[in-house]
Amino acid sequence: MIHSSDHNQRRKKRAQFKHQAGPFIIFFTVLMPTNCVILEQFYFDLKMDPTTQLINGFLVFYFYGMAMWSYYQSITIKNYTIEKAIPLQDNRRIDPIYKNTNSCLECNKWKPIRTHHCSLCGKCILKMDHHCPWIHNCVGLRNHRSFYLFTLYMTIGAIQYSYASLIYFRFLFQSSQGFFFHQSTFFYIYWGLTSLVLYPTCAMLCFLFFYHTSLILNNQTTLEQMKSGSNENCCIQNDKPPRSINLFDRGILSNIAWFFNYSYFWFLPFENIYKEDGTKYSISPLCTLQDIQINNPQIPIVQIPEQQFDFDKIEQKYEEYQAIAKLKYKNKRIVLIGKEIQLD
Ligand SMILES: [Zn+2]
Ligand SMILES: [Zn+2]
Repeated sequence: MIHSSDHNQRRKKRAQFKHQAGPFIIFFTVLMPTNCVILEQFYFDLKMDPTTQLINGFLVFYFYGMAMWSYYQSITIKNYTIEKAIPLQDNRRIDPIYKNTNSCLECNKWKPIRTHHCSLCGKCILKMDHHCPWIHNCVGLRNHRSFYLFTLYMTIGAIQYSYASLIYFRFLFQSSQGFFFHQSTFFYIYWGLTSLVLYPTCAMLCFLFFYHTSLILNNQTTLEQMKSGSNENCCIQNDKPPRSINLFDRGILSNIAWFFNYSYFWFLPFENIYKEDGTKYSISPLCTLQDIQINNPQIPIVQIPEQQFDFDKIEQKYEEYQAIAKLKYKNKRIVLIGKEIQLD
């Protein structure tokens, strides 16, 4: 009985996959190779020198191959949460990010930080970026890299095709034998139709690529970006709405290195497997004092000095930090996430 219901569920999932991702898979696996052949035709007809033609011809299939590999990885890599008990809450910690004890009401499981429940996948997704219908999968912790590389290779391929297409159009236009002399009618019809699809697709891919590049540079996900451009912030101002602070932004180079899992082979769409497995993230080591509102009951606005706190140290050595802070901010009230710390 259990076996048959399992089987039915798998069949239902397969049917759903075919229905939702099918058209896209056909687009990428049928239309794209045909376009590659056409692209080769352009290069062949343009009568370039043999080396240029060979390089161009190779690059066409290289980018297509890489795009398809990235596409396959994006579809097959899952970002499901791991089975782990909810960690105990440490009350000494002032940064709520380390409490990290939420659980998902749907899955009834621990929901680590940056995790969201996807209603389409029916599961919790680690560092969920968005659910992508193109791949019928969620983009998250482990496949964001392959998804990004997919947009990169597709963008390069689309630009390559569009550019060669323009050159070829000019070549035909200037041809003494006439525009329609060089190819069959079918070629012109197919070329015209694909161009109609390709130029908007190219523009869309460029947008997608640049958008995800900006997310990588800031170490953000689409969901976090949409939430007023911030993650849960660590420090809030008194009686004011939460400020936009991206806790995971550790600087452009660190963000890029982390995104590609510190790999020299960043251009290959491997699955990203991290030591912490999506349960913990390094946060910005330095939290500026501007992030921490210090209120003095007598003086409403206190000039915030140009110094920085090491947030990792706050997390690790809270008592020690408090002792130093006591001296430094005597008679002042510090408010962190609505939690008041009296330092007197
Ligand atoms: Zn869930
Ligand atoms: Zn999903």
